[in-house]
Amino acid sequence: MTFGAMFHHFHDAGMHRRGQGSLSADGFRALLGNLSSEHNILVPGDYVERARAGALSADDICLSFDDALLCQYDVAVPVLDEFGIKAFFFVYSSIFTDTPDSLELYRDFRNASFDDIEDFYRVFFEELAQRLPRAQCRYADTYPADYLADFGFYTDNDRRFRFVRDQVLTQGEYDHLMTDMMDRVGYPREERKAQLWMTAQHVAELDAAGHEIGLHSHSHPMQMRMLDRAAQEAEYRLNRRMLGDICGRPPRTMSHPCGSYNDDTLDVLRNLGIVLGFRSNMSPVHGGSLWEMPREDHANLMHRAT
Ligand SMILES: [Zn+2]
Repeated sequence: MTFGAMFHHFHDAGMHRRGQGSLSADGFRALLGNLSSEHNILVPGDYVERARAGALSADDICLSFDDALLCQYDVAVPVLDEFGIKAFFFVYSSIFTDTPDSLELYRDFRNASFDDIEDFYRVFFEELAQRLPRAQCRYADTYPADYLADFGFYTDNDRRFRFVRDQVLTQGEYDHLMTDMMDRVGYPREERKAQLWMTAQHVAELDAAGHEIGLHSHSHPMQMRMLDRAAQEAEYRLNRRMLGDICGRPPRTMSHPCGSYNDDTLDVLRNLGIVLGFRSNMSPVHGGSLWEMPREDHANLMHRAT
């Protein structure tokens, strides 16, 4: 079956730190070697045209990079150049504002400021008990022993942390807690912001080099499908305008942030002139339209290769 290979984080020996699931240049090189021996890696333009014509063969794949991370530009793009491969880059536009997606900063904070994830959890739960004792009680009283038990790879603390973050705290409380922790530990937020994401200049360069820049919403909501139609349209309209300004013409492709969408999303995208969209997994969907192309996470591609 045809699919898009989906990439996020890369690391090197310098400022791009290793994190959960990140790839080195060598790891990426090896993976590309495998992919190109088993599949036909198309340039984005050909992938779009063949998809629209219903002419993609099972061997045809494309490469895609989400979230406009600077590590992709620094680590992955030179390897793409070695192979002479062009790819999709799906860019959410709040990274060009003062308030980029905080999830990416939180991930970096966990990787950069703690020995390991357990060390982060220890400080997080201490901080929770001290600063939000009522929330701490709610958590202690209501934590179900089987929370996320289906996810075998989660540790006990992985599950407890997710319960507190997703079920106990409001978004505002969680943001406050994390911001306080960042301040206490001395996390250099502004400095790291500039090291985490590409600039508009980087994106323009990729576009000029023949890569395809696509939409990924403005603020990268975790659950686009929970937003009403007007909010979804505002997300993609602003994203389209900002990327259009950078590239000199509006994008025609996209990927769904966190793989989340509904019928309203697809309708909004069609109205904005988007001709091809990608999900973030391989599971078959009802309809399987051109705005719901499957993608395989690089971690699963690595597993398949070995
Ligand atoms: Zn994303």
